[in-house]
Parts: sequence; structure tokens; C-alpha cells
Amino acid sequence: MEKAVLDDVMREWDSPLYTEAVATFNRVADLMGLDENVAERLRVPQRAMVVTFPYRKDEYSQVDSVFGYRVQHVLTMGPTKGGIRYAPDVNLGEVAALAMLMTWKCAIVGLPFGGAKGGVRIDPFNLSRAEKQRVTRRYTAEIINFIGPNKDIPAPDMGTDEQVMAWIMDTYSQQVGHSEPAVVTGKPPALGGSVARREATGRGMVSLLPLAAEYRGVDLDGAQVVLHGFGNVGRFAAIAANELGCRVIGISDHTGGVHNGRGLDVADAARHVDEHRTLEGYAGGDAISNDELLRLDCDVLIPAAVGGVITPDVAEATSASIVLEGANGPTTSSADPILNDKGVLVVPDVLANAGGVTVSYFEWVQDLQNYFWSESEIVARLREIMNRAFSEVMDIAIRENTDLRTAALMKGIKRVADAKLVRGVFP
Ligand code: NAD
Repeated sequence: MEKAVLDDVMREWDSPLYTEAVATFNRVADLMGLDENVAERLRVPQRAMVVTFPYRKDEYSQVDSVFGYRVQHVLTMGPTKGGIRYAPDVNLGEVAALAMLMTWKCAIVGLPFGGAKGGVRIDPFNLSRAEKQRVTRRYTAEIINFIGPNKDIPAPDMGTDEQVMAWIMDTYSQQVGHSEPAVVTGKPPALGGSVARREATGRGMVSLLPLAAEYRGVDLDGAQVVLHGFGNVGRFAAIAANELGCRVIGISDHTGGVHNGRGLDVADAARHVDEHRTLEGYAGGDAISNDELLRLDCDVLIPAAVGGVITPDVAEATSASIVLEGANGPTTSSADPILNDKGVLVVPDVLANAGGVTVSYFEWVQDLQNYFWSESEIVARLREIMNRAFSEVMDIAIRENTDLRTAALMKGIKRVADAKLVRGVFP
């Protein structure tokens, strides 16, 4: 792509995360010798929608207007799939970057989806339950022609959960005139949600830890684990790490962190969050800042909150041997080479957190067939897919003498490019 055209593209979608995603894509596309016609198309989303909509606050006379987004990156291999994020700073560029990451992620684990993402620029912690419901139903109404079981299937992401998915499913079903569970995944089991979906991302990620530890020569018995973010992903990752015999010595959320060198009681911390919504005031260890937490001495560092937190400074400071990327885009592209040069094994987001979309895929299949699997079937199939993807990516990394992120993206981008080339250009 000519530089002037590329500059235009960046102006349209500009955001730090999108700049990172495109820079990483360009680096890997160059290494692969990717067809430039395909590369040009894949740098930008196929479809993007920006909406502005009002919602009524609990104070009846007050109405606020907010921005919402839904971006579909590639529609070549099937419907698109990706979460919906409620966050105060979400923007079109960030959602576009996350949609692109979803495309690679689905391709890496072999799911029949392109990538999508959605968002509403709002602070979910400042909303009552009733306000969140009104925001969700109106956002769904705004994007309703864009989504559907065979078009684009949303799921939870930061700031959204099973309840939000239930409201989306209900709003969509009211409009089409019949119950349509397959329009979203991550629903409560009572509505056709899959058992084990809530735990899938954290548990799927930690199921890769023994493979990573074996490769990197880390003894997991008593290994010190630090988690940034204690939401859906972080909480279940902490529980799974404990089950492997690791010691979780640090956890955090947006209000700050807690450190206990003897090991935190993860279940007790989770109970505190259930009661108080955040970790603030949790007395199971010493209070520390998020920045201090990211620099704690540990064997395994798991970013499981927002993007861009592993900066060059943090990469220099960390003593971790393994970084498991639970969050999307947690490591900046300038921090990545520092970790690689230090010999840290980084299991990249597109591989590490793919367990969520994999069990979402299972949920979608079960909803379409109205035939539900047992928890043991789901866990076994998830493990098989995650372990196979890890081994395939590791083989590419060894063959190409490169890091796991580059190897994973080579695998994902190749699958999408092959599909595009064989379908050809319409008309
Ligand atoms: P969540 O809303 O359940 O939890 C987010 C956690 O991060 C909370 O503990 C929150 O307090 C904390 N947090 C938010 N901003 C923070 C900040 N600035 N500093 C420190 N902590 C902060 O979200 P989630 O579903 O656990 O998602 C976390 C990350 O994992 C996101 O990057 C998301 O895109 C990614 N992810 C989620 C899934 C999934 O299935 N939920 C799947 C793949 C990737």
C-alpha cells in the first residue's frame, strides 16, 4: 500500500491499539511474503458501524447520549464473532483493532468465523442495573440489522457479562418474533448458554501453562503467579493456576492491587469482589498500585485487564519467565522484543485467550442444533483444541526460528489469506 493511502487508513481508524495491530500485521505479512492485494484488504475492516443513542438515567428527567460501535473485519470464512466492550474510553480504532485480532484468533484455533468486535463508550461501574439494561437494549436495537446467528454473533468482553448477553438475546428475539438464542454467546445456561463458557477463557489459557512451563523449564509447583485484572478472565485464571499448584501472589483490578508473598486466598478475594464489586478494601494482603503489581517478582505474569500495560519499562522490570496474555493487546510492540531478548516466553493473546471464543463456538453450535453437551465433553474438546493450536504454533516458531506471537499470526493470517484467494474477487 502506498504511504499516502496508508496514512489515510490510519486517520480513519486512528488509535494506539489499531496502530499496534497494523504494525504487527505488516511485520508478519512482510515476513510471510503475503500477496499485497490481500494484505491491503486485511489491514482495514470490511464493515464498521458507529451509532449514537440516548438512554434514560434512573433520575427520569436525565437523558445521556453515548457512542456505540460494531466492526466486522473479515466476512470470508463464515459469520463474524467477537465481544462487546463497555468502557469509558472505547473508540472506533480500538474496536477495529480488536476485530482484527479476533480474525487471527479464530483462524489460529480453526473456527469457522471472521473477527468482529463491539463497544459502547460508557463507564459500566457508574451504571445501575436498570441503566445498564436500557443502554444494552437500545444499543442492540441500533445494531440489530448488523447481527444475527448467520451474520455476526456478539459475546461478553470487558464491562459486559451473561446478563448483558441475555438482554441482547431478548431484544433481538422480540424484534424477529421468535426466540433466537444463537444470536449471542456467553448467555446464562437457562437461555441456551453453554456450561463452562464463563470459565473458558481463564481456564483455557491456564491449560496451556504446563506446556509453556515444560518448554521454558519452569517448575509450576509453588511457582509465583501475578494477575493484572480480576474479572471474568483473571478470576478463573487465578483459580486454575492455584489448581496446578501455583501460588497466586498478586491480583488487581481498576481500583488497585493486593500482594501477599505467601499466596492469596483466591476464592476469598472472589467473594469480596462479588460482595463489593471491586477489590478495594480487600484485606488478604498488602495494597499496592497496578504499576507496582506489574513489576512484582514472579515466574508467571498474566495481564488480564486492558491493553497496552506491558510497556518497555514493565518488560525491563519483570522477572517473569512466562507471560500469558489473557487480555487483548496487553504488550506494546516496543515491549515485545525486550521480553523476547530476555528469553521470556510470551504466549500471545490470539492463542492464550482463544478458549473464550472456542467455547462460544461450542455454544453457537449447540444452540443451532438444540442439542447440549455435558461439561466434561466441553472441557475435553476445549483442551484438545487449545493444546493442538499451541503445538502447531510452537512447531512454526521452531521451524521459522521466531517467537510465538509471530508464529501464531503466520498461522492465522495464512488461513485467512488462503480463503480469500480461493474465493476470488466479486464481481
Ligand atoms: P471483565 O470486565 O470481567 O474484567 C476486567 C477486569 O480488569 C476487572 O477486574 C477490572 O476491574 C479490571 N480493569 C479494568 N481496567 C483496569 C485498569 N486500567 N487497570 C487494572 N485493572 C483494570 O473483563 P474480562 O472479560 O475479564 O476481559 C479482560 C480482558 O480479557 C480484556 O482485554 C478482554 O478483551 C480479554 N478477553 C476476554 C475474554 C472473555 O471471554 N471474557 C476472551 C478473550 C479476551
